[in-house]
Amino acid sequence: MSYPSTETRLKGLPISPGVAIGPVCRLNENRHTVSMHTAIAPEALEHEAALLRAALRTVGANLAQLARQVTERAGAGEAAIFSALKTMLDDPGLQKRLFDSIVNLRCSAERAVATTFDHYAKRMQSVSNKIVKERVADIRDLKTHLLDALHATSPLFQCEGALHCRRGGERIVVAAEMTASLAVRLDAQHTRGFVTEQGGEASHAAILARSLGVPAVSGIPGIYQKMTCGTMLLINGTTGDVVIHPARETIARELAATPEGRLEFRTSEPVPGLTVMANISRSADVEAALQANAEGVGLYRTEFEFIAAGAVLDEEQQYRRYETVVKRLRGATAYFRLLDVGGDKPLPGVTAPHEANPHLGCRGARFLLAHGELLRTQARALARASQHGPIGLMYPMIADAAQFLLLRTLIETAIADLPHGLLQHGAMFEVPAACLAAREIFASADFGSVGTNDLTQYLFAVDRDNELVAHDYSPDRPVFWALLRSIAQAADAAQRPLSVCGELAGDPRYTRHLLEAGIRIVSVNPRYIAQVRDAARAALSPATAGTPAP
Ligand code: PEP
Ligand code: MG
Repeated sequence: MSYPSTETRLKGLPISPGVAIGPVCRLNENRHTVSMHTAIAPEALEHEAALLRAALRTVGANLAQLARQVTERAGAGEAAIFSALKTMLDDPGLQKRLFDSIVNLRCSAERAVATTFDHYAKRMQSVSNKIVKERVADIRDLKTHLLDALHATSPLFQCEGALHCRRGGERIVVAAEMTASLAVRLDAQHTRGFVTEQGGEASHAAILARSLGVPAVSGIPGIYQKMTCGTMLLINGTTGDVVIHPARETIARELAATPEGRLEFRTSEPVPGLTVMANISRSADVEAALQANAEGVGLYRTEFEFIAAGAVLDEEQQYRRYETVVKRLRGATAYFRLLDVGGDKPLPGVTAPHEANPHLGCRGARFLLAHGELLRTQARALARASQHGPIGLMYPMIADAAQFLLLRTLIETAIADLPHGLLQHGAMFEVPAACLAAREIFASADFGSVGTNDLTQYLFAVDRDNELVAHDYSPDRPVFWALLRSIAQAADAAQRPLSVCGELAGDPRYTRHLLEAGIRIVSVNPRYIAQVRDAARAALSPATAGTPAP
């Protein structure tokens, strides 16, 4: 069933403000699934064989490069795994079987890869020899490399190639669900707006949409199935309205109320009494922070560098990004959050087991403790960057003082042999248990930062990504503010700086509340810095200082 061909108005959840008008491109939601459908038309089999040849070439080149890089940095022993995978990939018997599968099973290149590697893995698993068994992981690894290379050639949109869907075209993307990695990828294509069936206001995809200034609406059931590519759509991310086939008068009316396009940011002067820093996701965002006259970077979500690159970044690659930010800040502190992976942010290139409840699984600090090498590499890159200016290391999702201390010790050990500048270590207060243990944590932390997005989620047991419970996802409850006040008091008692860096810090309706709770530092999307300063100026002015917050 599709929508009528006359103007139709739907109501969703406002995710990112602004109005966008443009033709719809439906995302290709199947681009990562291996189709079970085997009956490929005979004339299309050569195309599948060509895709397979290209994927084999790409993976072969990647493995050879990895082997070279690792040999240079860590020695031939460490690189042996990549050379072994490359030898396995080049095996004529394996390649013949892959190409034969396409013809014999009349299937896609992806299916041929999946079937062939599953067959080998099963046979090797059944052998009692331990060494043969251990190679099964390599077989799986190679399968993933090949599928990744093949997926990269799958079209991102259902209408790829159609006139309205030229790459770089100004489209409105309709998807079942927006993920953080997709938001990063779509930004590069000048997407005008997003509409999705699922996704909460505090999801990372929503946070990214707001920081990119791209209007977005979520929570419209069935829109992905019912929408046809090329249909004109108006979306209003301020009100949550979506209008299919908008009439000229409707467009004029909506635009009169809200300007079209990306929300730009204004520059503003600092306000004595509230330090306003910037949240960034990529090193290049530091320019937006500077343009908005931010008093430093209060939260750099470093995992987005990895998500945007689609791979684990090595020490040098990380260092170059971090160094850029520190140098541009010219002495103002840059607060880097250590990789906060898990939940709605899987790390590309790191295979993670399926988790039924990822927000309570291997996330944040827990993930870092389970991936010592990633932690060590990031710590070293950051220590090197600190030679150019002061850095604060924010530890994500800390649960208690012992966990904080353990991480701090691991980091200090990892960088002990490196010269470095001022490096401070701080805890994020996002888990209720950590908030209750704030005094203990401040005994070993140099600063603190409250992540209100996750704190709201865990304090009220309400999923930040789920549009169905969005009405319940709110800090407007006295217990939330009492908890915040208690963290601020603990920070004061320990004489440690405390900031708030979750999304509510950028919402001017809460600025006065935050000041009253004892918060003197916030970190927000650069586009919201001016409005937060306006609200702070009003709240701190003698004329209104005594008026109760809304
Ligand atoms: C938070 O939880 O408020 C926070 C700043 O971290 P993130 O939104 O990246 O989880
Ligand atoms: Mg968080």
